[in-house]
Amino acid sequence: MKIHEYQAKEMLASYGAPVPRGIPAKTVDQAYEAASKFGSCVVKAQVHSGGRGKAGGVKFAETPEKARSVAEAMLGMKLITKQTGPEGKIVRQLLISEAVDVEREFYLSITGDSERAGLVIVASAAGGTEIEETAKEHPEAIVQIPVSVIEGFKSYQGIRAAEVLGLEGDLQKQLISLLGKLVKLYLEKDCSLVEINPLVQTTDGKLLCLDAKVNFDDNALFRHPELAPMRDINEEDPKEYSASLSDLNYVSLDGDIGCLVNGAGLAMATMDIIKNFGGSPANFLDVGGSATTERVKSAFEIILSDGNVKAIFVNIFGGIMKCDIIAEGLVQATRDMGLSIPVVVRLEGTNVDLGRKIIEDSGLAIIAASDMADGARKAIAAAKGVKA
Ligand code: ADP
Ligand code: MG
Repeated sequence: MKIHEYQAKEMLASYGAPVPRGIPAKTVDQAYEAASKFGSCVVKAQVHSGGRGKAGGVKFAETPEKARSVAEAMLGMKLITKQTGPEGKIVRQLLISEAVDVEREFYLSITGDSERAGLVIVASAAGGTEIEETAKEHPEAIVQIPVSVIEGFKSYQGIRAAEVLGLEGDLQKQLISLLGKLVKLYLEKDCSLVEINPLVQTTDGKLLCLDAKVNFDDNALFRHPELAPMRDINEEDPKEYSASLSDLNYVSLDGDIGCLVNGAGLAMATMDIIKNFGGSPANFLDVGGSATTERVKSAFEIILSDGNVKAIFVNIFGGIMKCDIIAEGLVQATRDMGLSIPVVVRLEGTNVDLGRKIIEDSGLAIIAASDMADGARKAIAAAKGVKA
């Protein structure tokens, strides 16, 4: 789960991390009022995306009047950044932040490191809006410092980070203290990313988190009911959102074959085989361990809400869940929903013969496939409206 910059900064502040003063605003009047509290300010689009600065989503305003006109232009605009894709994101909220006199900008983040089964602090003296270019052209300028999740953050890791950023004396102390807070936040809230870009040194010698991105591990959200109100479903793909409510793993893609699969590995293999035969998957949908009628129905509903889907490929392995039960679920869901697009089914596993017979006897126009390759070919042909 992602949250907005203003929420991330409130969370950072609650851990004692230094952030500039800021006030969220949903209307032009609120923006004006907030800006009146600061001498000059920065108006920042609140969308779940980085790269806003380069796309016109971060603007300086010397006066509250200027902030008002900037806010007028920004609220409701479609912000297209490098991260949003061409469809962009509508700006529904702003953060009015006090303007800060910046001396230097750094990159600092904490993320998981599955190889070391720990965390890693990522630091670079080349922070700010050019970090992507730095990563490409000068990867050596981005340094990783491993942190154990058992021992937690240690000062020597902070000293190393300060060395990377070129911070000494009091600034080094500030960085060590900040890193301790960021690691604490990361671990306590089950984050997947805490990124400060830029972390800045102000002209009066203070470190400040000028931008903040905090992402949470979805699998641990059940441990954090306090985070639920921070979710902004406007920022999420509506299909992915409704899938998450039904406990389905769903990712929207841009092809025309809806895939209903059980298990993430099988989902990947299904997408690969569709691609291999020249087709294009519309989604990655994993119903998980239980392909019951209800779950299959929810899955079909989500797949069908994507107007691009021309055929559905059901590729299910009946392990613990037997094929006859799955077949019954499929038949029932297809019948209840009056599906009008072709459905290709490949079943394998326990009681497969019984499962296939249930589908045959249903009288429904379900296209049976003998194996994955056959299923992929038939689904591609069905999406094109021809017979395989
Ligand atoms: P994004 O990463 O989405 O482009 P940032 O919040 O990092 O957005 O803002 C982009 C740039 O704007 C920063 O690198 C910084 O130079 C400048 N900036 C952002 N907030 C402020 C602020 N409060 N005061 C002064 N400059 C700012
Ligand atoms: Mg930034």
